[in-house]
Amino acid sequence: MSEHSRSGEKILRGIPVSGGVCRGKIVVLSKAREAMPRYEVAEKERAQEIQRLEQALTKTRQQILEVQRKVSVAMGAKDASIFDAHLLVLEDPTLIDEVTRVIQEQKINAECAFHEVAEKYGATLSSMDDEYLRERAADMRDVAARVLDNLLGRTEEADLRKLKEPCVIISYDLAPSTTALLDRKLVLGFATDAGSKTSHTAIMARSLQIPAVVGLHDASKQLKPGQYVLLDGYNGLLVVSPTDQTLFEYGQLVRKQVNLQEKLQDIRDKPAITLDGLRITLSANIEQAADAENVRACGAEGVGLFRTEYLYLNRETLPTEEEQYQAYRQVAAALKPQPVVIRTLDLGGDKFISYLWMPQELNPFLGWRAIRYCLQERAIFRAQLRAILRAAVEGNIKMMYPMISGLDELNQANALVEECRKELQQQNIAYGEPLEIGAMIEIPSAVLTADSLAKRVGFFSIGTNDLIQYSLAVDRLNEKIAHLYEPTHPAIVRLIHATVEAGRRNGIWVGVCGEMAGDPALVPLLLGMGVDELSVAVSAVPQVKFLIRRLKSSEARELAQFALNCENGSEILARSQALAQRIAPSLFENQS
Ligand code: PEP
Ligand code: MG
Repeated sequence: MSEHSRSGEKILRGIPVSGGVCRGKIVVLSKAREAMPRYEVAEKERAQEIQRLEQALTKTRQQILEVQRKVSVAMGAKDASIFDAHLLVLEDPTLIDEVTRVIQEQKINAECAFHEVAEKYGATLSSMDDEYLRERAADMRDVAARVLDNLLGRTEEADLRKLKEPCVIISYDLAPSTTALLDRKLVLGFATDAGSKTSHTAIMARSLQIPAVVGLHDASKQLKPGQYVLLDGYNGLLVVSPTDQTLFEYGQLVRKQVNLQEKLQDIRDKPAITLDGLRITLSANIEQAADAENVRACGAEGVGLFRTEYLYLNRETLPTEEEQYQAYRQVAAALKPQPVVIRTLDLGGDKFISYLWMPQELNPFLGWRAIRYCLQERAIFRAQLRAILRAAVEGNIKMMYPMISGLDELNQANALVEECRKELQQQNIAYGEPLEIGAMIEIPSAVLTADSLAKRVGFFSIGTNDLIQYSLAVDRLNEKIAHLYEPTHPAIVRLIHATVEAGRRNGIWVGVCGEMAGDPALVPLLLGMGVDELSVAVSAVPQVKFLIRRLKSSEARELAQFALNCENGSEILARSQALAQRIAPSLFENQS
């Protein structure tokens, strides 16, 4: 497909994250915190404006009290007391008087006045020498954001629920939880200014099979609601006002894709085996229990990664042990005897839950995330572990921990599982045994201590999304440095190799469940290094199987040998792509 703009059309180039082509009118979501409406309020309406402010403050107070109550039940009064500071901000007479004064004197709307005053207070507090006061700036920001949301009566999700006809969403960004709620019948595709290939938003788009392009920098500012676009999720292009010629060319591309899908369907029930007989386990990644039916339909052999966080998102309270048990049981029963690897809760990073009120952090991916969170919030973790143990009666369930950085965390998590087992036994509640437990390898320190870890687990699953982020120090969400996020960097190749070798030495299997495993160009490299299992998005399973069935393991090993001796990531990538394109050219026909 030519990328030159034809007369009248305009092409915006971003990062392709979910394949497919769609076209339609756009709906532009504004960045919630950026677009602060400012308008003049006539004198006779100012009292009403002040009343709106008071209502928003009351509503915010009720919300905070509710969160405080829940936190108190889940985690105790001490943790809940942090909200006292938030309540104090809401009741601060100086702040409220000043906002009222600004509404009166500047004749402006309540949200604008509140924003102005809150910003001024926040800035003053942050510049204080006193640490206690500086911390109050964060409380100020949190509370102000809530008050503004209430005044504006607007959230991203609310906007999306108002869609009336199929459209393409253009937005500054979308939260993974919002993406999970997208209605596939109404959202033909989406494009965002921010984001990158391994953000959970992108992963969710692939899971829902919604074409998506991210990293478009300022598309949401450039484009106007109602414009007609064509979105090419294969190549990361957003064509605004496409010409007839462009639409015709894309029509041909879509036809080729339909032919390819038919070929892929033919091998659906065949094994993932190379031409020279190397058998690979090809499993699927899922985000919700309902995805289980797609796992069978795509020809995967079970689930290699069940991201359980989505059970906790888009709701008001924590899922109970019973609810989780039902969800895990449902997946296990649907896929029995195939395995289902349940990944324990990986909150934090780019996945937050408003009702748990996780603090804002400067570096959330280096912060209170995944196993770190679970080992501190033990009541939450225990409920999940008990649910998994119980569900294991119903099928072939395995479990793995995310973000293990070393032996200490692994031992603590294993000890907790042991406690849960004993507890269930004492309570006479059935649980499945033996339950194979694995560790995700996604932090460089885990690779360097892999021999110790391997002695205490049944398998490793390499989370390349995070392993790359943490090894190369490249934020996986940041589109400005997306070009530095390099799966074929020699360091990454060596880390994967070292993990596989440690697995071999200790007699455990090693899989890869990061997005790298679903990229057909990189599959030969992973197999050449001796990986036993690949777990990929449901939408990627057919292509990966197609490629494996056209590959000779000897060629894959040669490629891996080359990569392990190579000093240059681009050369490794070029050689990997050349091999994959030679053996399965039809998989690459959608690339411009
Ligand atoms: C990974 O990091 O590669 C992984 C599979 O986990 P997640 O993408 O959910 O962080
Ligand atoms: Mg990860």
